[in-house]
Amino acid sequence: MDTVDLAIVGGGVIGALVAHEALAAFPDATIAVVERGLIGQGASGRSAGVHFPRGATERVRSMSGYSHRAWEGLAGELGLPIRAVDATVVATGDADVISTTYLRLGDETAPADPARGWAAAPGARAWTLHGCHYADVQAVAGRVLARLRDRVTVLEGTEVTELSSGGERLLTLGQGRGLLARRVVLAPGPWIAHPAWADLVAPLGLRVKKVVAMHLESSPAPGDPLTIFHDEDAFLLPLHERGHLLFSYTCDRWDVAPDDARLVLERSDLDDARAVLGRFAPGLAALCNSGRVFCDAYSPHREPVVAELRPGLVFAGAANGSGYRLAPAIAAETVAVLDLAALRAGSTPPASLSQPGQRQS
Ligand SMILES: Cc1cc2nc3c(=O)[nH]c(=O)nc-3n(C[C@H](O)[C@H](O)[C@H](O)COP(=O)(O)OP(=O)(O)OC[C@H]3O[C@@H](n4cnc5c(N)ncnc54)[C@H](O)[C@@H]3O)c2cc1C
Repeated sequence: MDTVDLAIVGGGVIGALVAHEALAAFPDATIAVVERGLIGQGASGRSAGVHFPRGATERVRSMSGYSHRAWEGLAGELGLPIRAVDATVVATGDADVISTTYLRLGDETAPADPARGWAAAPGARAWTLHGCHYADVQAVAGRVLARLRDRVTVLEGTEVTELSSGGERLLTLGQGRGLLARRVVLAPGPWIAHPAWADLVAPLGLRVKKVVAMHLESSPAPGDPLTIFHDEDAFLLPLHERGHLLFSYTCDRWDVAPDDARLVLERSDLDDARAVLGRFAPGLAALCNSGRVFCDAYSPHREPVVAELRPGLVFAGAANGSGYRLAPAIAAETVAVLDLAALRAGSTPPASLSQPGQRQS
């Protein structure tokens, strides 16, 4: 039976980044990524892939700043499919809260853009926001692991069906094979209720929420910005490569399951999206006719979760619809918790990226 230092269950963007960070910190570690489908085809494959430097809490701001720097570095190093985009934040309320929440807020600007078809409610203000981008997240996960394939074993089409407790963990794989791992990271995205780990994960109090983003048949012009409607927790994104706009809003349907065939775009989703977009862009609201639907894991405190469930078994994820933009920080926290250095007792781990925020205990 094969034995590895680290088995990462789940080949989404978080699993891929954990593999990258673990290898950067411990180049000699033996690592396997076990993915029941293909790399990046879970929540990562449906993601809008927007990164904006923002955080509602100190920890998330710290993670966002860290991830911002990491994505900049990785984009160049790995040639990732990431596209910088100008951005505008629109908000009512306390300007101090906005300037604390957004890390790279620029000058105040007009809270309306007739050319692009939106105008904020009276009393709203708008600012430019620097440092935003969007990515093809499935391709990002694939590209990150492609660079590691000579040093990381990637097992696709391979479901983990059981996870033993105990020191060195035995992962039973779909084909009846086994894999022994000294450390295990669970990065299952919204598959938190898989029987192999449901009991272990349950104390974290995670829930799975439907996530919807509408596709608007309107061609973006070169230079069109990302517009973030802060009060609505929504954004309008020009997807240049796909030739349409994307409108992300907050869908409030909870306790869905990622494998449920009923997780589709419903009439009520269209109505909800049109109602939100109609508040500031009635012309665009009429174009809400199609979109992408999936789900994501959410934590009770709305911060990502990096938690040691048992010695050597770490859960990483539940990033509340922000798992792409915060993935580098989640990965760095995860590798710190894994204590891979203990497996190489006597050797000093090389300096890794500095740590972002505080992990969950
Ligand atoms: C429509 C939509 C839009 C989004 N937009 C944004 C955005 O603009 N910005 C942003 O930051 N985030 C966004 N998100 C959220 C973000 O995409 C997710 O938080 C992120 O992709 C989660 O990554 P992950 O690696 O944890 O999960 P996943 O990508 O779901 O990866 C988990 C993997 O685990 C595998 N797996 C599950 N069970 C097993 C098993 N038993 N054995 C082996 N493998 C298993 C799955 O097949 C899957 O590939 C969006 C999400 C959606 C759905």
